[in-house]
Amino acid sequence: MNYRNHFYFGVACWLGCAPALGLRPDPINLSVAGMAALLPDIDHPQSKVGRWVPAVGQALTHRGLTHSFLALLVLAGVLWWLYGHYPQWLALWVAIGVGYGSGILGDVLTVGGVQLLWPMRPRWRVPVLGKSGGRREVVFTALCIGAALSWWVQQRPVLHDLQTWAQEVWATSIWLWHWWQPVLQKAAALLADWARAAWAAAAAAL
Ligand SMILES: [Zn+2]
Repeated sequence: MNYRNHFYFGVACWLGCAPALGLRPDPINLSVAGMAALLPDIDHPQSKVGRWVPAVGQALTHRGLTHSFLALLVLAGVLWWLYGHYPQWLALWVAIGVGYGSGILGDVLTVGGVQLLWPMRPRWRVPVLGKSGGRREVVFTALCIGAALSWWVQQRPVLHDLQTWAQEVWATSIWLWHWWQPVLQKAAALLADWARAAWAAAAAAL
């Protein structure tokens, strides 16, 4: 999947899972789920997240470790720890897990498949979406968003929720644009610089 489809598929999965788990999707945990869905592709130096930390993509095989049950298990451990310390953000932690899982699932549905049982070699695939980034993927993601939305609408007292939502979306977007966007960009640039320097140092040492 390309990053846009990963993002929206992650959002759709969380929107579909949250009511079933008795958790409430809000604009923050929805966008976090979408971003968590991009994380497995950190193992590809040309992917959205991989470009921030190219060292990771150069070190790992694409669709290997980060697309495996092992990675999910490690992530579940981290999220469990976070839940122990910040139980009030349960929905956020679960959203990250669901988003990450959707990232792996999204790639299982393409021809490339993923090494689910890494370090074992075989690639697991159910290639209903054909080649990664193709048109089928867009249609599929749109259908998932539609299905998740209608499921969510059935689960909620809609009008009241839409009003809360409008307020939340407004507040969140202002918060993101005015404060976090420059901060995030700077942090990403710093991290990328640091990773590049570390990689160069390691290469020189070897
Ligand atoms: Zn992918």
